[in-house]
Amino acid sequence: MSGLESYSGGCHCGAVRYRARLDLGKPVISCNCSMCGRAGTLLTFVPAAEFELLSGEASLTDYQFGKQRIHHLFCKTCGIKSFARGARPDGSPTVAINTRCLDDVDSGALNVQAFDGRSR
Ligand SMILES: [Zn+2]
Repeated sequence: MSGLESYSGGCHCGAVRYRARLDLGKPVISCNCSMCGRAGTLLTFVPAAEFELLSGEASLTDYQFGKQRIHHLFCKTCGIKSFARGARPDGSPTVAINTRCLDDVDSGALNVQAFDGRSR
C-alpha cells in the first residue's frame, strides 16, 4: 500500500458514500483530542480536490467545537463519522478521511502515528 490510489468508503448504513485519492503508505493519524480520542478515528488528510462525495450530503450532521475550524460530519442515521471538512493553515480546503471507513482496507495493517491533539 503506497502511492496515490483511489479508495471508496462511507458510513455504516450506506447513505454517505465517497471516493478519494490517497496514499495509505503514509502514516495515518491517531489523535488524542477530546473528539478523536472518543471516536477512535484513524485519519488521513487529502486536498478537497482529491475527495468526491458521491451521496449523502443531506444525511450529514455538522458538529463543531473549540476553535470551530473543523466540521465534524456524522451520518444522522447511523452516527458514523466517515470524514470531516477543514482547512489547512494556509486556508486551502482539506478533508480528513476516517480510514476505518474505507472499503476493503485493513485498519490493523496501517502505519499509525500518534498525534497529541489534546495539548494543542
Ligand atoms: Zn449512515
